[in-house]
Amino acid sequence: AHALVAAVPAGASTASSPDPAAVVARLKAGFSTGRTKPLAWRLDQLHALRTLLTEQTDVLLAALRSDLGKGPQEAYRTEIGFTLNELDHTVAHLAEWLEPRPAAVPDAFQPAEARVVRDPLGVVLVIAPWNYPLQLALTPLVGALAAGNAAVVKPSELAPATSAALARLLPRYLDPQAVAVVEGAVAETTALLEQRFDHIFYTGNGTVGRIVMAAAARNLTPVTLELGGKSPVLVEPGVDLAATARRIVRGKFLNAGQTCVAPDYVLAIGDTAAALEEHLVTAVREAYGEDPSADEEYGRIVNERHFDRLIGLLGEGRVGHVGRVVTGGVHDRTNRYLAPTVLADVSPEAPVMREEIFGPILPVVGVPDLDSAIAFVNERDKPLALYAFTDSPQTKQRLTEETSSGALAFGLPVSHLAIPDLPFGGVGESGMGRYHGAYSIDTFSHTKAVLDKPLI
Ligand code: NAD
Repeated sequence: AHALVAAVPAGASTASSPDPAAVVARLKAGFSTGRTKPLAWRLDQLHALRTLLTEQTDVLLAALRSDLGKGPQEAYRTEIGFTLNELDHTVAHLAEWLEPRPAAVPDAFQPAEARVVRDPLGVVLVIAPWNYPLQLALTPLVGALAAGNAAVVKPSELAPATSAALARLLPRYLDPQAVAVVEGAVAETTALLEQRFDHIFYTGNGTVGRIVMAAAARNLTPVTLELGGKSPVLVEPGVDLAATARRIVRGKFLNAGQTCVAPDYVLAIGDTAAALEEHLVTAVREAYGEDPSADEEYGRIVNERHFDRLIGLLGEGRVGHVGRVVTGGVHDRTNRYLAPTVLADVSPEAPVMREEIFGPILPVVGVPDLDSAIAFVNERDKPLALYAFTDSPQTKQRLTEETSSGALAFGLPVSHLAIPDLPFGGVGESGMGRYHGAYSIDTFSHTKAVLDKPLI
């Protein structure tokens, strides 16, 4: 048995987290029987996951409420419903995605036939974060199983109720020869990363992303890194600012701002800032009422460390340091509540502009024109998402051609990741690789070339 079992922190379950080497060996043995390869097994597993999500909805909603104060509607929509959507899309198209694709053979090699087939990789590791602890553990799992792999899921220790629920339920519904959950924090993840996997799919921050990639390099294991960063929202003069503000607010304050693709800050172009700020105040009130702490759909900050970090970004006690609070700022450490907060007149050098906010604080930064907005974006790390509110086709074209980001969305933040035919992933500091729908099959398969030439 592994010595690390003794190092499991309080709150983490040891019962379901045995020796990682033994878990991986079990799944390798399972994979090598060939059981995961037939389409029937894959569809069976996906149906079983669907049954888990529908039979255990209440258990999962309670876990999400306990971990992040998520209200039932938001939790259903962004975690359970989201995953069901991905599942159904995959079940509907899997056979077609797995069809061998013919490749044209040049005359010099005729007669011959060439095709591209998708091979499962083997045993893959999915490391999930705490912010959407169900969706970001299960959506990659859908892809891994659909592509015919065995998978170890490592949920986030910072969402302990969801982690425990996954550890208890996944082995009950899915094939235990091919799916395992290993709970735990740094020590357990480090031990897992010492095992040889055929792919590692990590969602979280770039610091740990580097640790994961370095560990993977020792075994030449390919990685997908779904990371974060600051996703800007550009607002051009002339757009409907009331509608713009409503859409920004809905995307920003979802899950109390703890969303990897949340609008991080607004670049208000030209003279839009003052009017936009007023509309943002109205939109927050419309969405969450006079007292957002009383709205059961408004979430809480995951833990005190992140809560204290966010209050630090507000620059409390240092008036004028970060800009003007136009709404929000109210907080309560006892239940890790921070009101939806909008900051105006924010300097690009303010602390809130230096790191990913990952909480309910929305700075508005003024820039004179589109050129400066594009330069502002391009001088910084490539974002996971770039959003723009504009009525101008020229602006849309310029942003498409002159900026680089994981995704680019006009008129609606966050929702692009709910469109299963769109790839979801970052570029540069926001990550590498992509998934969702058919892109998950690419990620979790080897795309194999097959050439077949007769001897005469
Ligand atoms: P986290 O702290 O839950 O960490 C993610 C995982 O890494 C956890 O399973 C954790 O156990 C593991 N881990 C932590 N330290 C480790 C170490 N030293 N060695 C090995 N493993 C370790 O989540 P987080 O990083 O706080 O998540 C927030 C970040 O994730 C943000 O930057 C956010 O933008 C990003 N994110 C990205 C996506 C995406 O899909 N691109 C989605 C959600 C979050």
